[in-house]
Amino acid sequence: MNEQHRISDTTSQFLAQPRPMLIDGKWIESASGETIESLDPGTGQTIATVSLGGAAEVDSAVAAARRALQRRNWRNMPSAERTQLMWQLATLIEQNGEMLSELEVLDQGLPKTLVDAFVIPGVCETLRYYAGWCTKITGVSSNLSAPDERQHRSIGPAHLAYSRMEPVGVVGAIIPWNFPLIMAIGKIAPAIAAGCTVVLKPAQETNLSALKLGELILEAGFPPGVVNIVTGAGEVGAALAGHPDVDKITFTGSASVGRKIVQAATGNLKKVALELGGKSPLIVFDDADLEAVILGAAQSIFLNSGQVCFAGTRLYVHQSVFEVVAEGVAEAARNIKLGHGLQADSEMGPLISARQQKSVCNYIQSAIDEGADVRVGGNATGDPGFFVEPTIITTSRPDILVVREEIFGPVLPVIPFDNEEEVIALANNSDYGLAASVWTRDHSRAHSFAGALQAGTVWINCHGLVDESMPFGGFKQSGWGTEGGRYGVEEYIQKKSVVATL
Ligand code: NAP
Ligand code: MG
Repeated sequence: MNEQHRISDTTSQFLAQPRPMLIDGKWIESASGETIESLDPGTGQTIATVSLGGAAEVDSAVAAARRALQRRNWRNMPSAERTQLMWQLATLIEQNGEMLSELEVLDQGLPKTLVDAFVIPGVCETLRYYAGWCTKITGVSSNLSAPDERQHRSIGPAHLAYSRMEPVGVVGAIIPWNFPLIMAIGKIAPAIAAGCTVVLKPAQETNLSALKLGELILEAGFPPGVVNIVTGAGEVGAALAGHPDVDKITFTGSASVGRKIVQAATGNLKKVALELGGKSPLIVFDDADLEAVILGAAQSIFLNSGQVCFAGTRLYVHQSVFEVVAEGVAEAARNIKLGHGLQADSEMGPLISARQQKSVCNYIQSAIDEGADVRVGGNATGDPGFFVEPTIITTSRPDILVVREEIFGPVLPVIPFDNEEEVIALANNSDYGLAASVWTRDHSRAHSFAGALQAGTVWINCHGLVDESMPFGGFKQSGWGTEGGRYGVEEYIQKKSVVATL
């Protein structure tokens, strides 16, 4: 870290100590004594060490979560008190916002301006949104007003029937390295609102903000074991996915790990929710507001250096405006200021790791090999740091690798199309179906596209606006289940029917 990258004393102190795991309300070092190094991807330097947990720690954390689930101080907590606890956590996050922001910037590489403006307020909003659900999770009773002639075989006036909404149980939450704090809160908030208990496994690259969050969870007054955090490598996730006493896994990450989790979950047939990748198209017609298109497309692909599951990663442009749009996004890419996240003028930070940087560069090389033109960018840069230049690629071939596969980097292929039918087919020709956007002033066309696109979210004249009140999930191999809104809470609720003869 150089002079430009000053951080607060509290953050320095946090980083100076090896960080243990949170199990049953206590801070525990791994039985093996092994640690993982946390790197600052903006410099490549080690900034902290974190315990390397394994199957033994997963066992302890799951047992603690099970005990907490059954303990009266959580199971019988009035829902309004649960709401209060979640609000208290949001307040503590705000009070510790500067430190959480610094940790997020150092560990993940996000520009600090973005974390301050979007991540910290966003996670507080998410917590308060789900806190509101605690008091609104209610069952129904059957309609007994009409006499039932078949009383002996079905529910009628001689019965009392109602449903109970119970927590699914112990939840294993496995999250990726992009936006780690948003990911952690996005899993924990709906789960605890529903009364579940959680074992969180952050990605090995990005544990720090989750561990600080753990401190705030204790300070807020959550009973021990309600939220546990086990740090470590993929083995921790695998142990959770295969654990016989975990009731549900909620996972965000790659499709390949998603498949492994489904297989590991077969032992006790635990419930599995998957938020996987995407290859989200932007579709631009000749009647669109092209200035808005250029700004929206550039923001969508370069946010967090393209490490965003719903990033717009295929830009289909009507051939009559192709050149204007391609040159417009290229110019936007040329103007982006790359830099360490703590640099005040940084607009785009590094990729998470040297491995990710290499993988993105290999994709760019594949596009060159397949005859595409790199109009701007195309190179790794930084040294120190794992940066890749904002990259715009033009091609008339919709079948090349960079148009088909998720790159998870700042790389946008731009492809021309002729007509509506053709572009719907191109957009839907993907294993993924997370999101899409349509850019046109013709609203009837826009809404007919909203119906025709195989995507969990369709934006019209914008891209990437998400809100916790809206369902979020994917078609096809983008996942199983839905996050957000009532649907997101229901994922953590076991519905039970109770029928009594009066
Ligand atoms: P990843 O490799 O799938 O890892 C995700 C998490 O799974 C990490 O915590 C990882 O642990 C853990 N893991 C690894 N192997 C495991 C196993 N066998 N069983 C259980 N857990 C295991 O994904 P990533 O590279 O961190 O993140 C990038 C990917 O996530 C991209 O493909 C992106 O599209 C996707 N993503 C999707 C969304 C969405 O909402 N749909 C959001 C963000 C990201 P380690 O850290 O130790 O490897
Ligand atoms: Mg890191």
